[in-house]
Amino acid sequence: MIFLSFTNSKSATKILGLVFVTLGFGVLGISYYFFFFRILPDLFSTNKVFALTQLVISIWDAWGIGYFYYKAVVTNPGKVPKNIISEEELSQLKKQYKENLDSEFPVYVPYCPYCSSFKPPRTHHDSVMNQCVLKMEHYCPWINNSVGFFNHKYFVLFTLYLWIGCIYAFLLTAKAFLFQFGFIDTPDENFSENVILFSILCVTIFLSLSFILFWQFFLVFTNQTTIEFYQRMSFPKAQRPLNPYDFGFKNNFRDFFDLTRNQSLIYFLFSTKLPKGDGMHFHENHHNIKLDV
Ligand SMILES: [Zn+2]
Repeated sequence: MIFLSFTNSKSATKILGLVFVTLGFGVLGISYYFFFFRILPDLFSTNKVFALTQLVISIWDAWGIGYFYYKAVVTNPGKVPKNIISEEELSQLKKQYKENLDSEFPVYVPYCPYCSSFKPPRTHHDSVMNQCVLKMEHYCPWINNSVGFFNHKYFVLFTLYLWIGCIYAFLLTAKAFLFQFGFIDTPDENFSENVILFSILCVTIFLSLSFILFWQFFLVFTNQTTIEFYQRMSFPKAQRPLNPYDFGFKNNFRDFFDLTRNQSLIYFLFSTKLPKGDGMHFHENHHNIKLDV
């Protein structure tokens, strides 16, 4: 019975994920239509140079939102390859894992009992996708996918482009918004009244995204995942281990977005390639204590 309800809750999460992704692409499509066919043409009727500048900026941002959302949805966050250790080593790990369950002083064993496989560093089992995810961050229903080693940067860039897009679209329509809510007396003659709905949508998404974006960039700058952060926080302050993957915020940032040392940091906005590395081997900063999780 417990097993059945567990299976049902996983299926429900998956169905919910599909609904959320359909909704995500739907809202994006409607917003694109509204912006490019209702708002921008109104701007062209007033000042063409201003409108052309807005067209270039908005095409760039719309590309970023759509492209990185698509990549976050379709990219597998990272599976553990089969046969990376021998059968003998695997059965040894399985044995250690079982012994550990009865032990008074359990130690960490890199073995996943659900996948019956070796668990590389920073890997965690995702019960919704029913697979171990390399450098797992979290499961996100809005992309119907886990965020892990191979799609984490796409997820971060998607949220950033969407956040910028919300601020940008709101600024263009702010006068209509402020008039509707009585903050100013003169209406914006450029826009029809239903622009206000678009404006409200932008404010809502901006507010909900702000915290997520702030948190994600904190993780990027410190080279850790949410899971690793909470694992470290579970220790009393005096015994809390340092993050072994932290090489300073600039290096962490370059590493996350695969920027070379000669590249300007701003290129992170166009980091479209899959991350370098295999998601199983990470440089460790030996000035920090090894995180034994
Ligand atoms: Zn697993």
